[in-house]
Amino acid sequence: MTTTNSLRKSPIVIAHRGASGYLPEHTLVAKAYAHAVGADYLEQDVVLTRDDVPVVFHDLVLEEVTNVAAQFPDRRRPDGHWYVIDLDFAELQTLQVHERVVPADGTAVYTGRFHERLDLRIRSLAEELAFIRGLNGSTGRHAGIYTEVKSPAWHHAEGKDPSPIILATLAEFGYVGPQDDVWLQCFDAKELRRIKYELGCRLRLVQLIGENDWLESDNDYDAQRTATGLADISTYASGIGPWIPHIVKWPGLGAAPLYSNLVADAHAVGLEVHPYTLRSDDLPEHAPDVDSVHQALFAEAGIDGLFTDFSDVTLRFLGRRP
Ligand code: CA
Repeated sequence: MTTTNSLRKSPIVIAHRGASGYLPEHTLVAKAYAHAVGADYLEQDVVLTRDDVPVVFHDLVLEEVTNVAAQFPDRRRPDGHWYVIDLDFAELQTLQVHERVVPADGTAVYTGRFHERLDLRIRSLAEELAFIRGLNGSTGRHAGIYTEVKSPAWHHAEGKDPSPIILATLAEFGYVGPQDDVWLQCFDAKELRRIKYELGCRLRLVQLIGENDWLESDNDYDAQRTATGLADISTYASGIGPWIPHIVKWPGLGAAPLYSNLVADAHAVGLEVHPYTLRSDDLPEHAPDVDSVHQALFAEAGIDGLFTDFSDVTLRFLGRRP
């Protein structure tokens, strides 16, 4: 089944939140593991703290992957959530990060993953970039970074402006232009245009593409996936990050995969395609096994990179690990 012969070129492997299949997402140990197995890019999701420190954290709220409810019981908003932007960076440092759970009953979202409770912490973007720079130096193997501006419109409504702060932090570490080994991703098209045209960012940008009912932004993602929409994206971005089912779906158990034209349409206007997220323990609906998904995406659809919770499994498919 595994074949790399028909690959169009060497695709990139993006460690989604680090080696998050094996260690709690966005911890430094998860980043170290992903670096060690050979991921090409390490992902950072970035949100702001109350005192405007950019931190590497996926959610706007804290309760699914930290012990915030026990540490700060009185900091919950009336809507029942504990928000990152309601705590200062120093306060966030007192939280323990753990594998993702359902807050109501503490059960694991992914039952086979890491479930020890240890001294793992939320880190600032600067700390993580220093950590990766250190690993790149000590191992001699260079990993790039793949940074996401999370929910900019929501931050703006709360009086916060993450993009300029994130760009300044990236610049401190030498990530300033299209030649640098960084991709900057966002779901919000309006913010990506602002990043490029108002904030003067020269980094390679990726338009993430979701489903309209996820309410990730006010983009019309259905329109963005058309040839016209992709041509528009190509005026400000270098790539797209669609959801895997936007490219390939398995209509039923044992059925052959069905492909959209998305990859070909994106390539026709010069956009790279980096879909999300391959999870060996949570495959796309009706997909028979993990390498069938790899085969469909890399060999048949011809993607240029993949967000994966299991970088080692993806690298093995690509013939880059034993
Ligand atoms: Ca992300």
